[in-house]
Amino acid sequence: MDLGIRGRKALVCAASKGLGRACALSLSREGVDVTIVARGREALEAAAVEIRKATGGKVTTVCADISTEEGRAAALAACPKPDILINNAGGPPVGNFREWGREVWLKALETNMLTPIFLIQATVDHMIGQRFGRIVNITSQSVKAPVNTLGLSTAARLGLTGFVAGLARETVRHNVTVNNALPGLHDTEHKFRSIAGIAKAQGIGVEEAIQRYVTQVLPAGRIGDPAEFGDACAFLCSAQAGNITGANLSLDGGSYQGTFG
Ligand code: NAP
Repeated sequence: MDLGIRGRKALVCAASKGLGRACALSLSREGVDVTIVARGREALEAAAVEIRKATGGKVTTVCADISTEEGRAAALAACPKPDILINNAGGPPVGNFREWGREVWLKALETNMLTPIFLIQATVDHMIGQRFGRIVNITSQSVKAPVNTLGLSTAARLGLTGFVAGLARETVRHNVTVNNALPGLHDTEHKFRSIAGIAKAQGIGVEEAIQRYVTQVLPAGRIGDPAEFGDACAFLCSAQAGNITGANLSLDGGSYQGTFG
């Protein structure tokens, strides 16, 4: 299926690795010019080379911390009027809330709630004016199924989810949609960090903890492939997805145990 977005411009945040890179790759394959952002220069440029090689598409890099005002300004300078905005950043640390002080909370809120909101604020009115826009926020399955040790992540991402729930209904009449993609466990570097805590608590190695998680928790019986996530994200950005807004799409192999996933 042709997603009808050839020639569109996308700003893809936190995209040198993992899910962000997969989204950029899928969009680029659809003929979208992508601007990818990450802090580490080496991995960022390597991702750009790989994407260009795979798709022949235009890839612009911005080496910046998207959670800072300067980082967001640099990203928007490189891609001032994106048709597509993929909001993403690293998740906050896992742990015990008794150890999280004010600075830790503010950092999580800044990175995983306020940064996407500010980027939406900077781009949505242009999208409305041109009657096309697609915004996808990469959040987490923990938004639907909270895990106590992921409290910082859940709280910040729920703040974002609550905010965009209203906005998504305001913009859709202008063919501007806002949706959230909720990853369960995927095969990225992040996976090892998130499972490390579980492994430590259970007194087992990370690989063994992943194996247990896969067999005991994931109905799919496997970890998610970032490429699948990227393609699902690209579909949410497609011309055909103009009637989908305010959705929280679980990409978790069925691990969210609810009738309405
Ligand atoms: P990942 O493989 O660790 O990749 C993270 C990417 O984001 C890297 O390119 C990293 O590059 C970039 N990044 C991180 N913080 C940034 C910042 N402040 N500014 C700019 N770039 C930044 O992680 P992932 O698995 O793709 O996860 C993406 C998001 O999904 C995270 O918020 C994660 O918590 C969430 N999530 C992932 C899973 C999973 O299983 N993978 C499950 C649930 C939720 P630099 O470090 O060089 O900046």
